[in-house]
Amino acid sequence: MTPGRPVPPPLARPLPPAAAALGSDRLAAAYGATSGHSGLVPLTVARRAPKADDVEIAIEFCGLCHSDVHATRGEWGTQHYPLVPGHEIVGRVSAVGSAVDDFAPGDLVGVGCMVDSCRECRSCLDGQEQYCENGLTGTYGAKDQRNGGAITQGGYSTSVVVDRRYVLRVPENLDPAAVAPLLCAGVTTFSPLRHFGVKEGDTVGVVGLGGLGHMAVKLAKAMGARVVVFTTSESKVPAALELGADEVVLSRDAEAMEAADRSIDAIIDTVAAPHDLNPFFRTLRRDGALYQLGLPSEAMPPVNPGALIRRRISYTGSLIGGIAETQEMLDFCAAHNVVADIELVRADQLNEAYDRMVAGDVKYRFVLDTSTLQAAAEEADA
Ligand code: NAP
Ligand code: ZN
Ligand code: ZN
Repeated sequence: MTPGRPVPPPLARPLPPAAAALGSDRLAAAYGATSGHSGLVPLTVARRAPKADDVEIAIEFCGLCHSDVHATRGEWGTQHYPLVPGHEIVGRVSAVGSAVDDFAPGDLVGVGCMVDSCRECRSCLDGQEQYCENGLTGTYGAKDQRNGGAITQGGYSTSVVVDRRYVLRVPENLDPAAVAPLLCAGVTTFSPLRHFGVKEGDTVGVVGLGGLGHMAVKLAKAMGARVVVFTTSESKVPAALELGADEVVLSRDAEAMEAADRSIDAIIDTVAAPHDLNPFFRTLRRDGALYQLGLPSEAMPPVNPGALIRRRISYTGSLIGGIAETQEMLDFCAAHNVVADIELVRADQLNEAYDRMVAGDVKYRFVLDTSTLQAAAEEADA
């Protein structure tokens, strides 16, 4: 077993007020936003001392999701600042609470988009905690009801403390940096593929070839499907084929879209900006479904009900995946040797990485190497 990375010593940097409310002296170097316009700057966060059911994790890697951009830039409305984003966390357990017997120091673990939920509602009891009827506790920017209402702070940080029920076991046979994006991009695309019941011989359409989209391609292929990628970027055509796509359609080419009429069973739409769905409905067969995963900050063009009615098409959304399903996805990836294609970045490259992500200039997921957080903070102080 590889020894865990030690949690670095604290920095003499102001604490986010909500984290300070924890009254903890367990400080972690982090990067986060202090307003919707600040960009990402060095911060220090306080982590609670592990309670009986808690697992303390020395974070090694954290993926950069487009949701982090939406949230830190205030595109989804008011946020609690300072805000440390990051919900694609992989690290090693550094300590456990007295009641934890399923994780031990040194274990390779992951944390995704949620760190708590009510554990009592129908969704929670069904293992669909992401749809918690009392509101899930997001990994960052959420009020942590079971911990005095402190605002959660995410994975662009050297450590985190999470209740064991929301901690995933990461298979040791995969590259841990490339596993990080599975914790959001992976499960968010795995869940609708499973919900539709994608099987050998089905044709899956993937709209948008970014972090989520490239995972949808890999997972659908691993499930035995034929995969058609719809992209707005001509430059991504060879890369999409290399990833395993059987066919690539330029979605702004009306003729190519027409030619794809009635050829797809299920579409996973990952586009992060408003776009017209009607041409995509026309590529679906009878009883097909379009799962919208992207959550643009502005309104989408209206959906034509006729397109749905004439082929009994389902237009639906899907939110990440439950905890058990996330573990199932990680185990599926371990069995099929599926990980994300990543570009590792240092903390001082985070702002540039965000701009590049918005410009679509990443193949396909940036992952922060958290061992660079401390040095970047010291450099910024100098
Ligand atoms: P990403 O890496 O930036 O990929 C988004 C892709 O959308 C781009 O690569 C691009 O693909 C396509 N696109 C087309 N027009 C675009 C435009 N004007 N602006 C931006 N992208 C455009 O983002 P991601 O991390 O995969 O996230 C995608 C969306 O899913 C985001 O809105 C995110 O917040 C959301 N999300 C939802 C969930 C959920 O649970 N439902 C979970 C995670 C993320 P082409 O170049 O191929 O056209
Ligand atoms: Zn995400
Ligand atoms: Zn619940």
